[in-house]
Amino acid sequence: MTSPVWHPFTQHGLNEPVPLVTHAEGAALFTADGRRVIDAISSWWVTTHGHCHPRIMAAIRQQASTLDQLIFAGWTHEPAETVARDLVAMMPRPLDHVFFSDSGSTSVEVALKMALGHFANRGEDRHRIVVMEGSYHGDTIGAMSVGARGVFNRSYTPLLFDVDVIPFPEPGAEQATLDIFERLCADRPAALIVEPLLLGAGGMRIYAPSVLRDLRQLCAAHGVLFVADEVMTGWGRTGTLLACEQAGVVPDLLCLSKGLTGGSLPLAVTMATPDIFESHRSTDRATMFFHSSSYTANPIACAAAAANLAIWRDEPVLDRIADLTRRQAVQAQTLAGKVNNLRQIGTVVAMEFQDRSGSYLSDLGPRLLNFFREREVLLRPLGNTVYVMPPYCISDDDLARIYAVIDQALAL
Ligand SMILES: *Cc1c(COP(=O)(O)O)cnc(C)c1O
Repeated sequence: MTSPVWHPFTQHGLNEPVPLVTHAEGAALFTADGRRVIDAISSWWVTTHGHCHPRIMAAIRQQASTLDQLIFAGWTHEPAETVARDLVAMMPRPLDHVFFSDSGSTSVEVALKMALGHFANRGEDRHRIVVMEGSYHGDTIGAMSVGARGVFNRSYTPLLFDVDVIPFPEPGAEQATLDIFERLCADRPAALIVEPLLLGAGGMRIYAPSVLRDLRQLCAAHGVLFVADEVMTGWGRTGTLLACEQAGVVPDLLCLSKGLTGGSLPLAVTMATPDIFESHRSTDRATMFFHSSSYTANPIACAAAAANLAIWRDEPVLDRIADLTRRQAVQAQTLAGKVNNLRQIGTVVAMEFQDRSGSYLSDLGPRLLNFFREREVLLRPLGNTVYVMPPYCISDDDLARIYAVIDQALAL
């Protein structure tokens, strides 16, 4: 019998195999048919320390035996209080307020609604959002509206709201991006939303920290809120806890998810400055922040996040990240000259394979996907862009194996 499951980003008409995974540990997935698969993309960018980290698993077990779920409007619980307190201590000031939701997409929706609500409550006529060309911020309608338009959202385009777009700051053309943004600032937009330093789903494109710093300064000069979507770049992926750190900038709104629970359970936060919190706070119930999901700040997910934050506090996580960054650079060198545009930021390495069409729907991507799957490596190319983003605990042998398989795939 065929499965009734409808998978995400999957063309069921192609009948590609869907491996059944029974358990995972560290950087390895184990399938029902007895194979050990190397998770070279951290299960779609979420797994940071490794699968089934003992401290996070223990926290989940413990929490599951005491409080499973609680309405979060007007009620609270210790795991959420701990996570919020620890996040404020860990993230840059003045991101002093923590709003919980349950995915990266919802953290972006929340950030956009907070930005618009902020100006509405202050009686300021600012309601446009500026975005960077090629960005990805999630798959809900609002998140798609601020993301790149393409084959992914063609059917929904008529429903997406209008945004202003600044070009991707290609090396050497950064000033054009800044000039266009400065011109757009004259129209008094509400916010600029960016993926700091690294555009993930848009093809693992890297841009200079100086651009991020200059965009942030323009936002401050023109009263535009600066929203950093660190859903993927957060939690050390780019070498620092936040990518924003490398540019020395602090956003007005910060979106975090994916590695927030170490990649174990769905949870997200949108962190906000006192200014944004205060514009919603009054004795007038009409200015409260009207947003909730049923599972806002689920206690078990919060316990997992609290354990993750404790790991960041008392284990040498940044040293592991520096070590993986160095090992990734060594491995990437084995492909130098064989692939196009080989690049790295922190723990992420990306490259382009030669392809005649170059589009996401070219058949190179699926052929590579199959090739990697057959060789027991989970890599999921974005069109002809192949990237390696492993959990920080990956062994030298597993990392070398990933690059050996990529090298073999060059003959495809
Ligand atoms: C993955 C991602 C999202 C969406 O997160 P979900 O949890 O999949 O909804 C948003 N922004 C960025 C930058 C992402 O990489």
